[in-house]
Amino acid sequence: MTTSADSESIQRVAIVTGASRGIGKSIALTLARDGRHVALLARSEGPLSEVKSLIEEAGGSASVHAVDAGDSAQLAGVIESIASEQGRLDILVNNAGITKDNLALRMSDEDFDAVINVNLKAAFVTCRAAIRPMMRGKFGRIVNIGSTSGVVGNAGQANYAAAKAGLIGMSRSLAREIGGKGITVNVIAPGFIETDMTAGLPDSVKTQLTGSIATKRLGTVEDIANAVSYVSSDGAGYLTGQCICVDGGLTMC
Ligand code: NAP
Repeated sequence: MTTSADSESIQRVAIVTGASRGIGKSIALTLARDGRHVALLARSEGPLSEVKSLIEEAGGSASVHAVDAGDSAQLAGVIESIASEQGRLDILVNNAGITKDNLALRMSDEDFDAVINVNLKAAFVTCRAAIRPMMRGKFGRIVNIGSTSGVVGNAGQANYAAAKAGLIGMSRSLAREIGGKGITVNVIAPGFIETDMTAGLPDSVKTQLTGSIATKRLGTVEDIANAVSYVSSDGAGYLTGQCICVDGGLTMC
């Protein structure tokens, strides 16, 4: 099914990194429901194959690509091969992310670099590899998954907040570079979403957090996937260079 605003008869090809679980899995399922062919990327092949099966059982189309986002050359090669095999590339969602939280005084160089590498540098590598095929198609929707931590900061997350803030600056720069080619670049910045990444938070912290969220609940993966669905649609061609906080009113940024 394509959305009513989308070009008829074209099956748009989407890449979603970190598609094996959590927010990325929900984005992949939603884009497949939108009628996209979805290329699923993460390190572990098994969980990706399960997502592929779910998409195919619902009548959609998907492919599995096991890759470590920390390996730039391998990652760029996978993006290029998907564009070449599918004959086009329309949508790129950079969702793969990790945290290695610690107070700055105790944060190692290794933990700082690892978070920058997967959350920021990998997104640059995929964007760079995606631009040429998107320019050929005169259409592109790049959606980078940031975080409200990258907008307002978060104690214990100097590495993660730096990477996510970097995504905003990078996305706005790319939006200016390639906006005239029909390619939009935006950031969706989730607040606190119930996934493996936040499962370890103590209940007392979750209760305290919920109290400071306007909608009085943590977010769901579908809350984020629905925003990505719109930003990646044909109808969102005049929306670019934006950072949209999907956070239940936590930051109101
Ligand atoms: P998650 O449940 O931990 O899932 C992370 C995904 O990224 C998995 O599919 C994982 O698959 C993949 N991944 C991790 N390292 C990778 C690597 N080196 N190479 C390739 N794939 C890798 O995370 P999530 O909570 O859904 O978060 C998804 C995105 O939303 C992240 O960018 C995160 O920063 C952002 N976010 C989340 C929240 C939240 O509250 N959950 C809030 C704000 C922003 P493999 O392990 O198989 O590689």
